[in-house]
Amino acid sequence: MKKELFQIAIDGPSGAGKSTVAKAIAASMGIVYVDTGALYRTVGYHVRSKGVDPADEAGVNSLLPDITIEVKYENGVQCVYLNGENLGDKIREPEISMYASTVSKNPAVRAFLLETQKEIARVNSVVMDGRDIGTVILPNAEVKIFLTASNECRAQRRCEELRAKGTDVTFEEVLADMIARDEQDRNRDVAPAIPADDAIFLDNSGLSFEETLAKARRIIDMGLAKKKDKRSGFYKFFYYPLAPVFRFFLRMKVVGLENEPKDGGFLVCANHIAASDAIVLCAALRKHQPCLMAKAELFKIPLLAGLLRCLGAYPVSRGAGDVGAVKTSIRYLEEGKCVGIFPQGTRRPGVDPRTTPVKNGVAMIACRAGATVLPVYIYTEGNVTKFFKKRTVIIGKPISPSELGYDRERTGEYARISEMIFDRICTLGEEYKAQCNQK
Ligand code: C5P
Repeated sequence: MKKELFQIAIDGPSGAGKSTVAKAIAASMGIVYVDTGALYRTVGYHVRSKGVDPADEAGVNSLLPDITIEVKYENGVQCVYLNGENLGDKIREPEISMYASTVSKNPAVRAFLLETQKEIARVNSVVMDGRDIGTVILPNAEVKIFLTASNECRAQRRCEELRAKGTDVTFEEVLADMIARDEQDRNRDVAPAIPADDAIFLDNSGLSFEETLAKARRIIDMGLAKKKDKRSGFYKFFYYPLAPVFRFFLRMKVVGLENEPKDGGFLVCANHIAASDAIVLCAALRKHQPCLMAKAELFKIPLLAGLLRCLGAYPVSRGAGDVGAVKTSIRYLEEGKCVGIFPQGTRRPGVDPRTTPVKNGVAMIACRAGATVLPVYIYTEGNVTKFFKKRTVIIGKPISPSELGYDRERTGEYARISEMIFDRICTLGEEYKAQCNQK
């Protein structure tokens, strides 16, 4: 049977430790590590050796037809050959870094190196690091990590690395070079060094290499698990015949189904007005089985408890924060399941949802798991508590982890993010009602 290939993209600014982490991941998973920066460095090296100004695009372009760059793996180590010569560490000199950054702004250089990078990933499972891997080279990578750290932290690491190789540098020089290079990489017109929308941020300021690696591995395991179909046999058995029946009896209309993510490992959050909302949510989604957080009291009723568990629900004790329920949610997300939560914590029929309090748990789970959030508004006309009431389910655009913008240095982030998620949910309802009124 043909082994399925997968791709892991690691992007981020210089000195964040991408290559060390990526190499360790490649070795432990038995896959190929691709250092794409080495390719730009090779072009930069050639341009310098020819005495051409790296910013002179026409001059650089005139050199490209005479260059052959090959990537070979010797004893598992990536070697870059320029016109048949293995350049080794010659491309690692500090001066070459800026040459590489300047030539990488040139669209012809990027186009010249594109195929070499894509081809390696076509025939191997890879972990590839660079600046545009998640956005341009491997836009469909199973896992995308944006690895970053504070400027000082990155400069310190780069300094130690260079000094270990015998290069005499000062911290201030390295910091200034690094900031200038990052600035240039981030602000170029073509393939700027920015995170992909679906990349998971990993800030390793103050973290050891082992801690960074462990975090990266968790993100990777989670990303790869998302690719598998997570529905249990029991659920499928009931879901397929029953979901259309529920949709029919609840006269359900689902708007925005195209927003349902293809892969699992996301959090679906909805407003809560009626007991049937749980069923409504499950029947509305077509590709995923939401594992719903449900109040612990329900799990005290013997038969119901068994049924709920078979359907993937899990208990939460309301009131004081239930650490166990938070951990279960994060684990499910990491396993690639879809987790369903009502951020209001309990049913709030007959009131404007904007006036109801929202629990912080939803943001805590989303941020700790680095998960995407799918906002959903359940709209019911008239007496909302009646079970067989016409329901409209409006599925909004997924909110990516980078859009949530979690900053662990700031206080009150969970409250801010929970409110932001709930605001998206309420807005979906308000926009839908406004549209209906216009008709
Ligand atoms: O990763 P490294 O520091 O070796 O990269 C050198 C330079 O090559 C970067 O500063 C960046 O300008 C460029 N580069 C790029 N796209 C990549 C990898 C590197 O533009 N995928």
